[in-house]
Amino acid sequence: MVKICCIGAGYVGGPTMAMIALKCPLIEVAVVDISVSRIAAWNSDQLPIYELGLEEVVKQCRGKNLFFSTDVERHVSEADIVFVSVNTPTKTQGLGAGKAADLAYWESAARMIADVSKSNKIVVEKSTVPVKTAEAIEKILTHNSKGINFQILSNPEFLAEGTAIQDLLNPDRVLIGGRETPDGQKAIQALKAVYAHWVPEDRILTTNLWSAELSKLAANAFLAQRISSVNAMSALCEATGADVSQVSHAVGEDTRIGPKFLNASVGFGGSCFQKDILNLVYICECNGLTEVANYWKQVIKVNDYQKNRFVNRVVSSMFNTISGKKIAILGFAFKKDTGDTRETPAIDVCKGLLGDKARLSIYDPQVTRDQIQRDLSMNKFDWDHPIHLQPMSPTAVKQVGVTWDAYEATKDAHGVCIFTEWDEFKTLDYKKIFDNMRKPAFVFDGRNIVDVEKLREIGFIVYSIGKPLDP
Ligand code: NAD
Repeated sequence: MVKICCIGAGYVGGPTMAMIALKCPLIEVAVVDISVSRIAAWNSDQLPIYELGLEEVVKQCRGKNLFFSTDVERHVSEADIVFVSVNTPTKTQGLGAGKAADLAYWESAARMIADVSKSNKIVVEKSTVPVKTAEAIEKILTHNSKGINFQILSNPEFLAEGTAIQDLLNPDRVLIGGRETPDGQKAIQALKAVYAHWVPEDRILTTNLWSAELSKLAANAFLAQRISSVNAMSALCEATGADVSQVSHAVGEDTRIGPKFLNASVGFGGSCFQKDILNLVYICECNGLTEVANYWKQVIKVNDYQKNRFVNRVVSSMFNTISGKKIAILGFAFKKDTGDTRETPAIDVCKGLLGDKARLSIYDPQVTRDQIQRDLSMNKFDWDHPIHLQPMSPTAVKQVGVTWDAYEATKDAHGVCIFTEWDEFKTLDYKKIFDNMRKPAFVFDGRNIVDVEKLREIGFIVYSIGKPLDP
């Protein structure tokens, strides 16, 4: 029986390994983590992450061929294939701070693998890492090993939070990069055989190591770039009377461009896009490619510009002062169908509103009060972009309330900001909300999900991204 171990039981490690366990009943899969609470949650009825369909998959396999454990060393030493899916956040100190990926978790995992291994292993980079990381990992593994053959593969993960299970069941592609040596090719075939249990062969791409590592950064950069492109257009639409939805539709009908990822919004978020572009920028700078670095930097600058623009729009619409006014925030997660708030645009915009002394009442169906308080208290690392937001002061913390209901959040509010495209926000009783709000009542739709005409008929003053302003 092939044994797989995955180091890191997070948003990627948990769901990807659950899918392997589901599709490969004869493979034993252990997901290990140093976080005792995370592992306890994976072994409970309250999984640590929310993903549609995940609970069913975990319940079906857990205890049979899927195990969650804190006994990292034992499971690593017993495994034939070790995936490493630890976090690779942006460095906050020292060389490359604010841009480079922090590989400290990866390095400590690699050292541990080298120390505890007694048999040959395939080590798979599942985390998103800078191109050439495999070279460094190989040095660590081979330096510490006792004649053990370690083969490194790059197998970046392309799932999107919110649709993780669907993406894993039916991936656009699985990418495996390895060394061009016979051992490297053998390792690629071994990993390919795992995915071949459910992924059609023509969707499993194999490349050299560096192409696979770089492809993940490139894919995220391209996706974020599309959002920044349409958001940049949204500003021009507002200035000229064009409607960004009409422009996106017209542009997306071109088969060379396609319709996906062309929705204007308050900005992109999530743990990956900004981090991976900063990483790309840093790699370009290290290779002397300043113009290329500047090109990708602009994607983040436009994203910050969009968030600042939103704050300014709220304040200027509400007669240039929101001091003491209650503003309801609908949605805090960075996208619908996830409880993940990492780098959500809601954080920066809420901080901007608090900076202008608004009182916030926040509701998100999947985000807890603790998460919101923590996110709003955290200092934002300022690399060199133009967003100048301060961490929340203790007084500001008192300006934030968290509710479990959209109607409660909007009661007596002067304005409503929508930051997450949760389906339930499309079907709220906006007449009831209007009746319970202060007048004039404003809606600022950061996701363009409300029916603007209907809300204007009710009496709201509505701002939608990239749309003609209220007559
Ligand atoms: P995460 O923070 O949710 O999970 C990482 C886990 O690794 C944590 O639980 C942490 O405790 C654990 N860990 C760290 N060091 C460890 C060690 N030495 N031993 C055991 N456990 C250790 O992160 P994530 O969102 O799952 O992302 C993981 C990687 O995948 C990142 O590189 C990320 O960029 C990439 N990625 C993420 C997504 C996504 O949607 N979240 C998608 C594709 C790729």
